[in-house]
Amino acid sequence: MAEPDVVIIGAGPSGTVAAALLAQKGYSVRILERQQFPRFSIGESLLAYTAQLLIESNLMDAVCSAGFQYKNGAYFVWREAYSEFNFADKVTAGCPFTFQVLRSEFDHLLAREAARFGADVRFGVEITAMQPGEQPVVTARSADGEETIRPRFVLDASGFGRTLARLLDLEKPSAFPPRAAWFCHVRDAAPAGLFDRQKIRIGINPVRRDVWSWMIPFPNGVSSIGVVGDPDYFARFQGTNDERYNRIIDDEPRLRAVITDGQLVREPGEIKGYAANVKSLHGPGFALLGNAAEFLDPVFSSGVTIALHSAKLAAQTLDRQFRGETVDWESDFAKPLMFGVETFRTFVDGWYDGSLQDVIFYRHKTPEIHRMICSVLAGYVWDPANKFNGPTSKRRLHALAAWCRDTRTTPMPEIA
Ligand SMILES: Cc1cc2nc3c(=O)[nH]c(=O)nc-3n(C[C@H](O)[C@H](O)[C@H](O)COP(=O)(O)OP(=O)(O)OC[C@H]3O[C@@H](n4cnc5c(N)ncnc54)[C@H](O)[C@@H]3O)c2cc1C
Repeated sequence: MAEPDVVIIGAGPSGTVAAALLAQKGYSVRILERQQFPRFSIGESLLAYTAQLLIESNLMDAVCSAGFQYKNGAYFVWREAYSEFNFADKVTAGCPFTFQVLRSEFDHLLAREAARFGADVRFGVEITAMQPGEQPVVTARSADGEETIRPRFVLDASGFGRTLARLLDLEKPSAFPPRAAWFCHVRDAAPAGLFDRQKIRIGINPVRRDVWSWMIPFPNGVSSIGVVGDPDYFARFQGTNDERYNRIIDDEPRLRAVITDGQLVREPGEIKGYAANVKSLHGPGFALLGNAAEFLDPVFSSGVTIALHSAKLAAQTLDRQFRGETVDWESDFAKPLMFGVETFRTFVDGWYDGSLQDVIFYRHKTPEIHRMICSVLAGYVWDPANKFNGPTSKRRLHALAAWCRDTRTTPMPEIA
């Protein structure tokens, strides 16, 4: 059998979108996915820029037809404070809405679409070894045995599997402290109008500002609920799944008021120490996409957005390389990708040190600043025109937070 141009490890969103883009350019692409689909995955709330990328990849028609929950923004709740962001207010041009999705269905749909564009998608095949180089060599294992493949390039889209980071010694610890997430699906059965099903609800624990919860409504009266805190926080909640569920939710009184006695419809899961990093995003004959490279934190639902943007940049760079152009994976792929990742990193840091929370709940933001923050929350973090994006975002966010805390009587400053 002819060797493919590209082997993609993993059929999560980064892998299938990269495959769809490359297949549409006429390249032969083989996705090797170790699991059988549909399979559960965490990460159900998308950002508006994800939808923009789906449009650009010709995948949006299929996603729109699937009946996922429409999403147009986010709201934040802390004690009596409430702050709402509508993606339509964002400053960057692009799609202003997105979806809240069961990832089992969403990922399966994207895999089918990639196949429709011509990608060869194989399930139950695990990559177990890889030799980098101008002609990379990949070893794949399935129920049929072991196979060696010699593609022209390998894209690692294996998410938390972190295949090439492990195999090629690229792992680097994350600078974020270890955190843990507890999550489940609940029949919220909330009466219409009690809360906005078209937005993700982010609630901050009334006592500990570093502990927060998500509520991601689906269209069928079910919501994804999750709580994030340091691993010690969860040690106090003991008992059966039901007992732990009730104790964890009781510690979030305002969330409890929304879901009342909503019953579990999916057994809870837990994941710890998920933040991860790598020494390099690329090497001879390969590049890393999405979570196979770096994962920051769930708080801004940035994971799938970064996954899709990395897929777009990699497909563009690879297309130029295959057409004989000289490409530099550091300046053509890694650096542009990290511009937006740094924005999210600033926002995650600011979330946990409290500065971003002060900005979010400050009620007298100028419309311009509200729109710039809204753009980041909508996922448009690669727009250089937004002053809160890129490597200087930290300085600007901290200056703004200091102003929100201390000098509320003077007019809000211009952001330089
Ligand atoms: C608690 C928590 C909450 C989150 N919430 C959100 C959210 O609301 N919104 C959001 O956008 N993101 C969220 N994320 C992040 C999101 O889950 C990921 O960023 C996203 O799934 C990354 O997509 P991906 O394509 O890179 O990898 P994945 O979706 O993880 O897909 C990787 C695929 O590779 C396969 N694979 C792994 N190893 C191999 C191998 N060796 N060979 C073959 N196949 C392999 C796996 O089976 C898997 O199917 C959250 C993360 C956490 C931890």
